[in-house]
Amino acid sequence: MQNKIPVTVITGFLGSGKTTLLNRLLADGVKTAVVINEFGATPIDQDLLEEQDIPLTVLSGGCLCCQIKGALSPTLKNLWMAWNNAATKPFERIIIETSGVASPEPILDTLLREPWLSKSYRLQHVIATLAIPQALEQLHRFAEARAQIAWADQLLLTQADLAEAGQTADVYSQLQLLAPATPYQLVNWQIMNTADMLGTAVPSFRRLPTNQPSAEHDFRSVSLYLDHPPIWPKLQDILQDLLHRYAEELVRIKGVVYLPDQEQPLAIHAAGGHLYPSSSLPIRAADDRRSRLVFIIHADIEDFSVALMAAFDGAELKAIRLH
Ligand SMILES: [Zn+2]
Repeated sequence: MQNKIPVTVITGFLGSGKTTLLNRLLADGVKTAVVINEFGATPIDQDLLEEQDIPLTVLSGGCLCCQIKGALSPTLKNLWMAWNNAATKPFERIIIETSGVASPEPILDTLLREPWLSKSYRLQHVIATLAIPQALEQLHRFAEARAQIAWADQLLLTQADLAEAGQTADVYSQLQLLAPATPYQLVNWQIMNTADMLGTAVPSFRRLPTNQPSAEHDFRSVSLYLDHPPIWPKLQDILQDLLHRYAEELVRIKGVVYLPDQEQPLAIHAAGGHLYPSSSLPIRAADDRRSRLVFIIHADIEDFSVALMAAFDGAELKAIRLH
């Protein structure tokens, strides 16, 4: 009997640290094939990976639990064929990073129930990230966030350093109600021991998902390309203003931005109404040096897009809407 290839699924709401976790896991040196699902049509997360020399499949422009659910099975079959045909195995495990609005259940259903996949792969861990500052609001507002918690084998609580007094304790109480049996831990990415974390994330049994089609999400995304490198304070003002005006609706901004005076691109992140400090990314050989931003909103996309384009126009930053 052939050995099954272990699969780790990373889930967690928009902006909760899934890509950071993926980077930490990839740093442990185990040869890994990665499947990234992004809700937005313009992929960003692949640029945020520190390790680039890996088998990487990006499934973007929809969510793996609904719109592009059918893409997972052929992707995993292709990876298995590559693995099986290679004299030197190209990877020893697969990590799937789901989109921030995905419910894990249909993804687990595909992995566990499809006979061919369940013969070749073994679902090993389902890990959910949850950002403490936004956790209570997200769990209250979004069924997707609750589903992520419910299906996780282990919860990683992130951004404790940005939490207000009492927030962490409130999140613990909420988790007692929503997922009392699920182990959780506060993470500090700098000192996190991934081997320990993966060791505790293996469940002794797992509830089988139901084979129900999941309802479409009430999230929409819009992607922008910027024609010219933007002046950072100008762009920052626009993003801050949008986050303020659409405090409820604008659930996520992410992007890769090239400034006129800097070689290295900047990674841009906002979630929960908060624009995080930007960080520099390595220069990639294939860079086209075009800045791109993805906005994910929980509201009517047309109204938001009009406001978005007007904001960029008003600041004289020429932006092209892709989707
Ligand atoms: Zn979905």
